[in-house]
Amino acid sequence: MKQKAIIVGGGIAGLCAGIMLQQKGLEVEIFDKNMEPTVAGAGIIIAPNALEALKPYGIVDEIILQGNPSDGFCILSQRGKLLSKLQIPARFDKMYSLHRKDLHQILLSQLRSDTVHFAKDFQHIEQDNGEVKVTFRDGSVAEGDFLVAADGIHSSVRKQLFNKNLYRYAGYTCWRGVVSATSIPNVRADFSETWASNGRFGLVPLPNNQVYWYALINAEERDPKFAKYTPQDLAKHFIDYHEPAVMIINNTRPEQMIHRDIMDIQPMEQFFIGRTIFIGDAAHAITPNMGQGACQAIEDANILAECIKRNKRVEQAFKQYDAHRQKRIQDLSKQCWQLGKVAQYEKGTAVALRNILLKSLPASMMQKQAQSIYEFPNLYYK
Ligand SMILES: Cc1cc2nc3c(=O)[nH]c(=O)nc-3n(C[C@H](O)[C@H](O)[C@H](O)COP(=O)(O)OP(=O)(O)OC[C@H]3O[C@@H](n4cnc5c(N)ncnc54)[C@H](O)[C@@H]3O)c2cc1C
Repeated sequence: MKQKAIIVGGGIAGLCAGIMLQQKGLEVEIFDKNMEPTVAGAGIIIAPNALEALKPYGIVDEIILQGNPSDGFCILSQRGKLLSKLQIPARFDKMYSLHRKDLHQILLSQLRSDTVHFAKDFQHIEQDNGEVKVTFRDGSVAEGDFLVAADGIHSSVRKQLFNKNLYRYAGYTCWRGVVSATSIPNVRADFSETWASNGRFGLVPLPNNQVYWYALINAEERDPKFAKYTPQDLAKHFIDYHEPAVMIINNTRPEQMIHRDIMDIQPMEQFFIGRTIFIGDAAHAITPNMGQGACQAIEDANILAECIKRNKRVEQAFKQYDAHRQKRIQDLSKQCWQLGKVAQYEKGTAVALRNILLKSLPASMMQKQAQSIYEFPNLYYK
């Protein structure tokens, strides 16, 4: 009989795990609490490590077709001068930006039509040595050989099985939006972030002449002042930044702007409990400073599918997965956290010193850094 995977959460992690396990011959059912296949969010960058993890599953061509490429990521000064570029080594693919809803559609289209069930809010799991039984709030039940918990940073599965508070507020709050770039001059073709005392402003061109922007400001957690910020308030905050920052924010309608405080979770010390494996943000939400959260969820899905295929017993597969993923995730989580602190410096002298340092970083060091992020450590990786 076919092995059956129950997946809770139909975000990037859950959909990728579903696609990969299905293609490995497993029976798969995905349950999401959303009422329909909608996705909140603006743009997203898919980096070469994630593309490499997707390659065996025939999804990459569509991402490349629908995405907008860049060969690296630039850091700019307040006046728009280049301070540093994290250049993707030539042997890797480029990185691609997409609207999140387009990526979601690409992933959904790879699954058999009866795979994803909506309006299924996880309530409870029971697991023993042989199977898992998941109950949803509408009273329905799903049974399988193992559970993949892919229900995001606020994972209800994690809260039931691993009742420890792992949240850490990063110290800054974030706004995002997608607008038309038609009437906006000076939009760089590559992906960039401007780092200065008032915060960070990121700009990522999307296909179809759209642009994805984001802004990060140091703030107390849940600061009521920032919760009420309109695009005009935000534009005022970035008034001294090089264009097109202010023009783009001013071109954003309030309903196009998404606001949330940035937090991560300390990665779980073990990514499985019994017959439940945690992947994506449910296991290790990281701060978005390296654009790697979803990319790591995609890497997780690839390694999970490989481990399930290579091991007869679920327990063995989960152990192999955990041994392989822990170091990669722990390292990236730390790097993202530290990078965020440095990027958010606000004191004049610290900013000036940081910028001098950024300009003088040797190319070899940047290449090493890029390689460590963008090389996908698959199961053969040494
Ligand atoms: C500002 C910002 C920018 C980012 N930019 C990038 C980027 O450029 N590149 C990148 O790689 N990453 C980026 N990330 C990180 C990325 O968004 C996340 O890592 C990624 O979306 C995690 O996917 P996931 O599937 O694990 O979780 P989620 O996307 O949170 O999906 C979880 C799913 O589970 C469902 N769910 C939740 N609770 C339940 C329940 N009780 N029952 C059933 N279903 C449930 C939800 O409805 C949802 O569909 C960014 C993050 C932020 C905050």
